[in-house]
Amino acid sequence: MIISANFKTYKTRKDTEKYLEKLESNISQSSQKVIIFPPVTALQKSSQNAIVGTQNCYPVKDGAFTGEIGLSQLDEFEIKTILIGHSERRNLLNENQAEISEKFRFFAKEDFQIIYCIGETLEIRKKGEAELFKYLESQFENIDLNYQNLVIAYEPIWAIGTGVIPTLDAIETTLKWLKDFTKKDVIYGGSVKTSNIQEILSIKYCDGVLVGSASLNVYDFSEMVKIADEVEK
Ligand code: PEP
Repeated sequence: MIISANFKTYKTRKDTEKYLEKLESNISQSSQKVIIFPPVTALQKSSQNAIVGTQNCYPVKDGAFTGEIGLSQLDEFEIKTILIGHSERRNLLNENQAEISEKFRFFAKEDFQIIYCIGETLEIRKKGEAELFKYLESQFENIDLNYQNLVIAYEPIWAIGTGVIPTLDAIETTLKWLKDFTKKDVIYGGSVKTSNIQEILSIKYCDGVLVGSASLNVYDFSEMVKIADEVEK
């Protein structure tokens, strides 16, 4: 399964180096695919047991794009994994579907593993399943679902950083719908922590998790990786 950590705008380069060092020894026996997304200033090469990916990148090799980074800055650290479409980028940083799909096209062409995030607001969720699925489908506009190295991260916005998660049945229904629709591996994100990861990973259609706040503590995140190793699939 994929057990991934999104540090968002937390941790320095030094913090991340220390984190990876500890994580590396804690998970050396694990069979999970572990991915860490630090802030861009803390990008570094992947370690033996943890892949380092980027939370974002402008879809260019390099150029005059003040404040952005491009492919050459990722190449320096051999980064080949990217998060695209995270709700914080869609909503707080105003990335629209056209920009997101352009990013997708660019990084697919570069053979990146893309973790493509989608998810609904509480308002949409309250409208029922038909509306929910219609909304989720709209977040795939101009996204090539035939791209091989693609994983879908289902992250209900109302579950991110709130401590609230959908019922396990609701997660299962949505993950199944996404799997049928995309034919890809589907992971869940939104308030995953050591106390609920076991039941979330046990959901039949769940291929892993994306963890935000609870991943910041390396012991908690290592524990989550260990729990994943114990979940029979
Ligand atoms: C996220 O933002 O990707 C996320 C899953 O956050 P949290 O775990 O803090 O809800």
